[in-house]
Amino acid sequence: MMRTLIKTLIFAFALILTLIVVQMGRQALAASEVERAWGATVVQRAPNLGTTKSLTIVPLVDEAASRPDLQFEHGVAYLIKTDRHTVLMDLGWNNGATPLRHNMESLAVPPTDIEALAFSHVHPDHVGGFNWWVKDTFALGAEQTDLHGLPVYTPAPLTYPGLTAILTAQPTVMTEAIATTGGIAFAEVFPLSLWRTVRTEQAVAVNVEGKGIVLILGCGHPTLERIVARAQAAFDAPVVGVVGGLHYEDKSPQVVSASIAYVKTLQPQLVALSPHDSTSANIQAFRDAFPTSYQNVEVGRPITLRP
Ligand SMILES: [Zn+2]
Ligand SMILES: [Zn+2]
Repeated sequence: MMRTLIKTLIFAFALILTLIVVQMGRQALAASEVERAWGATVVQRAPNLGTTKSLTIVPLVDEAASRPDLQFEHGVAYLIKTDRHTVLMDLGWNNGATPLRHNMESLAVPPTDIEALAFSHVHPDHVGGFNWWVKDTFALGAEQTDLHGLPVYTPAPLTYPGLTAILTAQPTVMTEAIATTGGIAFAEVFPLSLWRTVRTEQAVAVNVEGKGIVLILGCGHPTLERIVARAQAAFDAPVVGVVGGLHYEDKSPQVVSASIAYVKTLQPQLVALSPHDSTSANIQAFRDAFPTSYQNVEVGRPITLRP
């Protein structure tokens, strides 16, 4: 009896050890694949992007809300409004509830206002939930409603009943003044790396007249430096704003300081960090570093590029 138990334990231990070694090998291969993809990509420029005078970003889902009647959760959805166009980036997590639909109603945003949908990357907290994510699809809530052929721009394949999503490996203009940077490879985070080890993420870029490009990010997994470099290679205007998720949840103060020093080189006019994947201490470090250009990211609080 005792012998069998010891044998079983040794077998289980060996199996776990093997799985850990295999996973470490997969992640090492992923890291080199990401570097290869970054080095090999020839960025196609997106010249005729056009400009907008106004830019307002309204967080519809994030981990903090500006009013008690608005819901918040671990996820991201940002409504991006220019002079003439309205685009939605990401759909939140919808974990047990549907904060996206609830907040759209509370903030009087009818779904028909949305002219295009962009995904920053295919993670459960950005495509509308785990149940959709495992099927490589997405939803604005508990059901997949008819989106009437809405243009959908995604850096990785996604399906949806009744429409064909547009794959954006390269910078892609969505509407006047709004584009995506195109997907940039990153090594998947654990435990999602048990599914796939390499994914891609893109940012939405808005070209504000007389100012430059504001980048709107989901998680910033490929690193802010790479996303900015992609935008600089793709668009004619300088990057002057960074809004959204930057995944400073587990980063040391040294890494965050280095990132702040980098953002300072951009002389940004708008900096706003999502609380969904950054700690409040790291957000405060950014707030302190950019006292005149920093704006809070909260559901329902408009983020604007001030004139
Ligand atoms: Zn993510
Ligand atoms: Zn996220």
